[in-house]
Amino acid sequence: MNRLCRPVRMHIASVGVSKFCFLFSLAFCGLLLLLIPALQPPARQVDLPQPRPQVRPAQAGPSHRVRVPGVSLHAVETDSATELSRSSAGRTEGTRDDIHSPKRGMDSKRGAAPGRFSGSRSRDPLDFKDIFIAVKTTRKYHKSRLELLIQTWVSRAKEQTYIFTDGEDKELQMRTRVNLINTNCSAAHTRQALCCKMSVEYDKFIESQKKWFCHVDDDNYVILPSLLGLLSSYHHSQDVYLGRPSLDHPIEAAERVKSDGSVSVKFWFATGGAGFCISRGLALKMSPWASLGNFISTAEKIRLPDDCTIGYIIEALLEVTLTHTHLFHSHLENLQKLPTDTVLEQVTLSFGGFENRRNVVSIVGGFSLADDPTRFKTVHCLLYPDTNWCPKLEHSHIN
Ligand code: UDP
Ligand code: MN
Repeated sequence: MNRLCRPVRMHIASVGVSKFCFLFSLAFCGLLLLLIPALQPPARQVDLPQPRPQVRPAQAGPSHRVRVPGVSLHAVETDSATELSRSSAGRTEGTRDDIHSPKRGMDSKRGAAPGRFSGSRSRDPLDFKDIFIAVKTTRKYHKSRLELLIQTWVSRAKEQTYIFTDGEDKELQMRTRVNLINTNCSAAHTRQALCCKMSVEYDKFIESQKKWFCHVDDDNYVILPSLLGLLSSYHHSQDVYLGRPSLDHPIEAAERVKSDGSVSVKFWFATGGAGFCISRGLALKMSPWASLGNFISTAEKIRLPDDCTIGYIIEALLEVTLTHTHLFHSHLENLQKLPTDTVLEQVTLSFGGFENRRNVVSIVGGFSLADDPTRFKTVHCLLYPDTNWCPKLEHSHIN
């Protein structure tokens, strides 16, 4: 009896099993089936509040339009830049044929989805005064470069522009009323001196409470409406690092911050000569490696220039990706190849210095090349024709 009733030994097909045993087994199994749900862990609640998925700005392609009279502004999609770094990471004059393709959407190398950020503008419109624009200069360029910027775009953004230099110039400050900051950094064009300036720029930005940090050189023209339009596509609390990659591949450096330098690390960086922007949210996260002189020691550890160090902190240490944009321009690319009808849509422009006079944007306006060798005055008068020193429209050659 016992032997026959032990279910594991029971042979279903066997004959001679008593009816009682068979029915008892069935009842036992039925009881087990009934008990199964009771033995299981409680069912998961499906209606708990879930965290909202975070949108990674670098994976999104904002489709932004900026209102400049008579101009519709398109963002530009990046592609394989052949422009090399202006920094010691590889200084070479760029020879891009495909520098600009305005008909394409914007912007990220890593999968664009136009319009992803269109909602943020209405919720939290970005005010011009929330942008901090740092201009890096040196005492010897105050007359030859800085005065031109002050005469043109800086005059339209005095409150948010901070000029970082290495020598006193009280006369310029009194006359123009710009924010001129003497960093007391060395006036040399060395990695240490440039990193010293970047370090002061960073600290001043953090102190300022503004929402966006943008850095430019003293040979950049900033097209302010385009900059505002671009930044409005994102939110300052997101991790946003926007700029033009200097190389068509990530830079590789020995990892001497997180390890002993025996391993290398690859990362993208935005070339400083074209300008770049960082959201406040991301800038705050950079603090351990960037604030209060830490930027200088980080740069020293990886032995790279200021713009590369910014890329290293953001991409390699914080694992936030650079959003590649070709709306920023340095003179290491052929600026003449920028289509004339898209010049005013860019965020930054540059000029190639007077020894390389031809590397300027090609734009027609009220000034000859002799009167405006950088083309910055021409651009400025097209953007702000009401400026008192701009040629009157009827006398100019604007077409
Ligand atoms: N610069 C500087 N100290 C120097 C020389 C240059 O701070 O001794 C600044 C300059 O004002 C500019 C930037 O560094 O904002 C880049 O300089 P430049 O355009 O002459 O060189 P690039 O690297 O673009 O060839
Ligand atoms: Mn330059």
